This record gives sequence, C-alpha cells and structure tokens, in this order.
Amino acid sequence: MNIGFDLDKVFIDTPPFIPKSFIDKLYKKRDNGVLLYRIPGPIGQVVRKITHLYIFRPQIKENIDFLHVFPKDKNNLYLISGRFKFLENKTKKIIEKYHFTEIFDDMYFNFTNEQPHFFKNRIIKKLKLDYFIDDDLSLLNYVAGDNPRTKFFWLTNHSGKAPRFPNIHAISKLPEILNQSIT
Ligand SMILES: [Mg+2]
Repeated sequence: MNIGFDLDKVFIDTPPFIPKSFIDKLYKKRDNGVLLYRIPGPIGQVVRKITHLYIFRPQIKENIDFLHVFPKDKNNLYLISGRFKFLENKTKKIIEKYHFTEIFDDMYFNFTNEQPHFFKNRIIKKLKLDYFIDDDLSLLNYVAGDNPRTKFFWLTNHSGKAPRFPNIHAISKLPEILNQSIT
C-alpha cells in the first residue's frame, strides 16, 4: 500500500502555549466558503520561524515510534508537508533530527508555495495513495471529494465536527490506521 502522512500535528506538535484556533486563523481564511491558506508577510515569517524552533515544536513521540514499528515490506511510506518555502531550513533540520530519510520512502514539500490543499491533492494523485493521514479537516474535506478511492484519516482529539465525505475516518491515535474494521 502507498501511505502518505502529513508532518505538523502528526509527527511534530505546535507550541503548547498557542491555541490551535489562533494558528488556524494565522494560516487559513475562507472567501465565500473557498479554502485559502495565507503565506505570512515578512514580519509574520520571522515570528513563524522563531515558533518553529525545536524547543517550541516537540515531537509527537508515540506517532514517530509507530513509524519505526510499521510493517514496511508491503508498504511505501511518504511524508507530504504543505509547509511553505520560508520554513525550508527549519524543516530540513527536523528531517535530520528525527532521521525521516531513513523512515520514509520519499518526502514531498510544498516549497514552491502552492496552496497546501492543491499541493497535497496533486501528490496524492501522483503517488496513487491508498491512505493519507492529516490533522486538517478543511484540507481533508477538499482532497477526499476529489480522491474517492483513497482512504483518509483525520487525526483529531475532538469529534465534534463531522467529515464531509465517507472516505474520511476520524482517529485519535495513529495505530488506528491498521484497524481493518475501518471501511
Ligand atoms: Mg498538519
């Protein structure tokens, strides 16, 4: 199987002292219901680079550990991150620190600053992914409708919202993707 994983909030956590709703506001806006992510301006980029230092971005250890025990003989694992170009150096350091090159068969980064949902949609198709795991429900709602044969897993701690498509499954822990009863 071909399995794709998002990076932020799947393997790398956001700073513990910043509420998720605030981060969403920084990054996402909706124009007449159309999903749009913004690239921060020069000052915003400096702030974002500081908050992307290791100390503010703890690893999500149980999820990284899961990758190490994941059966790799029949599966190809891909990292697919929508991070923009201005975070390229910070991202490369993370890749090195957690030895992601040894874990993933290939890695895809949005360093050409496409809209993240367009970028991920393109890579999902290119890799013919069977599974894709992400924490961003707005993004999943976009790609799931366009890729009905791919199974999407929404990694989340709150189950208040309902996904828009039946091929999106809410999970609270990464190992749940191996649960065969999810159809
Ligand atoms: Mg994410």
